[in-house]
Amino acid sequence: MEDDLLRRERPPHPYSETSELLSVSVNALAATLQSLQRTGPRESAVFWYGDRHEGHALVRAVITPAQTSARGNYQVSAAAMSAMVGVLDDDMKPLAQIHSHPGRWVEHSRYDDLMASSKKALSIVFPFYGHWSQRWPVGVGVHEWQRGYWHLLGDATAGRRIRLDQPSTILEMDFR
Ligand SMILES: [Zn+2]
Repeated sequence: MEDDLLRRERPPHPYSETSELLSVSVNALAATLQSLQRTGPRESAVFWYGDRHEGHALVRAVITPAQTSARGNYQVSAAAMSAMVGVLDDDMKPLAQIHSHPGRWVEHSRYDDLMASSKKALSIVFPFYGHWSQRWPVGVGVHEWQRGYWHLLGDATAGRRIRLDQPSTILEMDFR
């Protein structure tokens, strides 16, 4: 959302970098952007699921739940979340919640802070309704929940936190 009234308070403390790593294949990233773009000029949400072992997570599924999309926000119902999780293997964990913003501003809004479905997953915001083609992660808002706040990571930190990997086999579904 672009409304300044929706801007958040500053972080109460700095983000402290961890050794956790999320690997996402280039084709999983491409599938994510294509889903956001298919929505047209409206915000939408996509989710990454996969494995996590000893601090290393690997994206195995890119799922777009049923949702309502508007120019400045999106909504995913509890029923739509359940339908999405229902198609996944039991061992798959939520790794990231992703959504689009209209312009270049990719920080969480107050609304995004409230809407984030899991504080264990990362939260990623793509600009321009998913029409993004820069070098990862430049221009992308990667957020991590830490000590009561959704921190927006700097580019260098975000690049270490989420690594772009070789193509891999992924499950891709769009419930819309
Ligand atoms: Zn948002």
